[in-house]
Amino acid sequence: MTAARWAWADVDLGAVAHNVEVVRRTVEPSAVWAVVKADGYGHGAVPVGRAALDAGCEGLCVALTAEAVALRDAGIDAPILLLSEQPIVDVPAIVAAGLTPTVYTTGYVDALAAAQSRRLGVHLKVDTGMRRVGCAPADAPGLAARIAGHAPWLRLAGVSTHLAVADDPTRRETDLQLEQLDATLAELPTGVIDGDVAVHVANSAGALAHPKARRSFVRSGIALYGVSPGPGVDPLAAELRPVMSLRARVSFVKRVPAGAAISYGLRHVFERDATVATVPLGYADGVPRRLSTIDRAMPVLIGGRRRPIVGVVTMDQLMVDCGDDHVSAGDEVVLLGRQGDEQIRAEEWAEALGTIGYEIVCGISRRVPRVVAAPARTSPLWPSR
Ligand SMILES: *Cc1c(COP(=O)(O)O)cnc(C)c1O
Repeated sequence: MTAARWAWADVDLGAVAHNVEVVRRTVEPSAVWAVVKADGYGHGAVPVGRAALDAGCEGLCVALTAEAVALRDAGIDAPILLLSEQPIVDVPAIVAAGLTPTVYTTGYVDALAAAQSRRLGVHLKVDTGMRRVGCAPADAPGLAARIAGHAPWLRLAGVSTHLAVADDPTRRETDLQLEQLDATLAELPTGVIDGDVAVHVANSAGALAHPKARRSFVRSGIALYGVSPGPGVDPLAAELRPVMSLRARVSFVKRVPAGAAISYGLRHVFERDATVATVPLGYADGVPRRLSTIDRAMPVLIGGRRRPIVGVVTMDQLMVDCGDDHVSAGDEVVLLGRQGDEQIRAEEWAEALGTIGYEIVCGISRRVPRVVAAPARTSPLWPSR
């Protein structure tokens, strides 16, 4: 059976390699670990993870045990850091897959130790102000000692924290978090923390905007996908290349007379006759319905030009006003990405919707097939072309 879909998301692994190189050059001599949680921010964790490792990342980070196991099942044997504690029932899977757990409670530390695997190097996460997960700074020495006390089954391999406002370089809290981390590191029992213990702090925004946050390695996610972490660091993200583009083909074309209305609610009324293209992508694919209910009409690209979405985005389809231009079924439509000289970025949708680029790319649903393009077989230092 074949079932074609006239909508797809291109994933450009050459852009991943380029973005890794940009971040690597920026943070040197710190290393880069690639964050590929949430199926690589919607891009595909396995191909992106492989491309990031090939481009020089030293490890991968994920949110869930199942995400890490999927990477192992795909044959990836690089270090994989679990960014938060997982349910205790996951401990056998964590041990079997040789993962690197993040820890911050005694119960979880003891459960990992009880597995009696000598492969377990754990990273202690300290909450320096994000207040999401992590131990209180005052509890870090006790937890570090408890980990050391579980030798040879456990080893403190890293200490980490997470920044809350790294994407806004004007705020002081990042420096306060770094000071808190350094004070905590200084309090750890002697002999527990040494050259073998990695210290890591920075997400993409921290890596780009805060040299003092770079430490042993940075945990970079969004930058590797070519999306800016936030408007406050846009200038620092200018060299990044978007990895995902969302494309479709026009599925149906018709002429609509002035005065006619369109889509659910018949909210949009045409002021003049227009050629209208139907595009087989909707909110079930991750094109937010709100794109069509905000004040300004969001554009898509057809024939290299920006053209507004008209009427509300439906579950599977949306409509585009093409004016008097000639458009045919089968023409390419770009919702995110480049066409001719025009480009629409996830950041543009995010800004219009009052959210962040992360939510846009993560939101492109599994119904949209990913078409993965391999990077050029050359080092990114030696661009082909
Ligand atoms: C998701 C996440 C990251 C990556 O953040 P980006 O802003 O995408 O670079 C880093 N560290 C932790 C703990 C995370 O949860």
